Amino acid sequence: MGKPAGVVAALKLVSTRVMLQPRVTDDKQLYASWRIPGSYFNRMLDCGDRYNPSVQIALEYLPREILDEHKDRLAFVGMGQRDGCRLSRALCETREIVVLAERVFPRAGADEGQPEFRYFVYVVLHEVAHAIKRHRSPLYDSLTPQQNADQEAEADDLAFKWFNEHIEALANASLPQLSRQEIEVAKARSRECMEDRYNG
Ligand SMILES: [Zn+2]
Repeated sequence: MGKPAGVVAALKLVSTRVMLQPRVTDDKQLYASWRIPGSYFNRMLDCGDRYNPSVQIALEYLPREILDEHKDRLAFVGMGQRDGCRLSRALCETREIVVLAERVFPRAGADEGQPEFRYFVYVVLHEVAHAIKRHRSPLYDSLTPQQNADQEAEADDLAFKWFNEHIEALANASLPQLSRQEIEVAKARSRECMEDRYNG
């Protein structure tokens, strides 16, 4: 006996809903090392073998669902192991690209508890926030200072939220919450480093 029309319609609706649900990537795939060819991190990270591991660690601070949603839409370029770089058209058309300054990368052997590593994670999260919120460019989109400040505040708020939620979940006594003051100190240090490099 066939199903009544109402039941058939309801079943169709259910199956459509199931089809429309986003495909969730299993954790083994999503978090597979950047060293594995074809992995999400492998296609996302272009900072060189010395620096890719730090970016992967920083991205693991993102909420899982955010990383899953944007795993094919982000790319990270670091200049620590190259003198110059031309971004290919294919890359620019398919991903949001975050370019990271050489001086912001943690040095060899630095661990997540150290201020320089924590600042690096914050910088990565802040730029990811700009990317996924599709923030506009102060220069090319002619933003007003207020519009720019609003975008910066939103990126900062998200970076602190993601960072501190991750820290809370880890519940590791040697990894305290990130404060605005810690970031101000790190920014001042970064500016000094920039000045030293320029002034020689
Ligand atoms: Zn910003």
